[in-house]
Order: sequence, then structure tokens, then C-alpha cells
Amino acid sequence: MKPAVFLDRDGTIIEDVNYLAALDRIAWYPWSIDAIRALNAAGFPVVVVTNQSGVARRYFTEAFVQDVHRALDVHLAAGGARIDAYYYCPHHPEGEAPEYRRACDCRKPSRGLVERAARELDLDTSRSFVVGDSWRDVGLARAVGARGILVRTGCGAAEEGRPHDGVAPDAVVDNLAAAASWILMHR
Ligand SMILES: [Mg+2]
Ligand SMILES: [Zn+2]
Repeated sequence: MKPAVFLDRDGTIIEDVNYLAALDRIAWYPWSIDAIRALNAAGFPVVVVTNQSGVARRYFTEAFVQDVHRALDVHLAAGGARIDAYYYCPHHPEGEAPEYRRACDCRKPSRGLVERAARELDLDTSRSFVVGDSWRDVGLARAVGARGILVRTGCGAAEEGRPHDGVAPDAVVDNLAAAASWILMHR
């Protein structure tokens, strides 16, 4: 079993535009590709885990979420970087769409997405890292026994100022580039 790096998507790899519902709204942070390539080179599977409640809210479809991930892959490949797998939660307990309206076990900070990835990709979560801009990402790290890194991009700077009980991150860093450096030093 291998350790992995689990990355949040919005506010961590790309800008959080508050429900990304059109491909032309994808806005990359300028360091993301280099950071992901460094994690690839270090041998970590890099796995995106993302809450996409916009599906349950009917802002976009699951097919659109997959289109976004294909668009990310094209851009990453052009920069010699790779995301090994994407896992997303389309649910929300108050969603408009009945088929997605539920209290699921995969919406972060619940463990479902990481557990599925660990099973399918043979990952050791206890030696893994979770990087994200929300207390939900840090809570996910705690829930699966991984180390959690809060980035100050997206909602992260605001999150840093209002810590949630019991979900202290292992590190708070400026962005994904700094998170990748931290991981390489603390592997
Ligand atoms: Mg986020
Ligand atoms: Zn879910």
C-alpha cells in the first residue's frame, strides 16, 4: 500500500469561483502544475477529492463535473503533470435534485471518497496527506488518520482565522506549492 496526496480542487488547485459551472471559468493558480508535477516525481499517487454539491443543487450535472476533470487533465498533461484519479461527492442533504438529496458518507469531512480511493488504488491513508482550503479538508485528514495541510488560497485565509474544534491542521501554508514542499520534507 502506498501513501498518497489527496488534493481538494476548488480553492486549492484552481480558484474557487463559487460553483464552477462553465469550463471557461476554470482559473488555474500559476504554481499548481509545477506542484503536482513535483508530487508525481516523488512517486505519490495524486488524487483529487472534491465536494460538488452543485450537482445536488442542479447548478450543473455530473457529466459537467467530469468534463471539468478532463479539461484539467489536458492542461496538466501539457505541463508534464498528472492527477491519478478524481473522486467527487455530488450530494447535499438539502439539494434540489431528489436523486442527490441525502446525508451521504462521501461529502467531506466524511471519509467516503478517501475510503473508495484507498480501496481502488491500494493506498495507505495513515501515511497520506490531505491538502485543502477548508476545515472540511483538515477534518477529512483527521478522519482518515492522514496529515492535513490548510492552504491560504480560496477560503483558507479566512478558515485559518476561525479554527474549528478538533480539526487543527498539521501545517498552514500559503498555497499548493508550499504544501508540496512541506509534504516532500515530511514524507
Ligand atoms: Mg476547496
Ligand atoms: Zn456524497
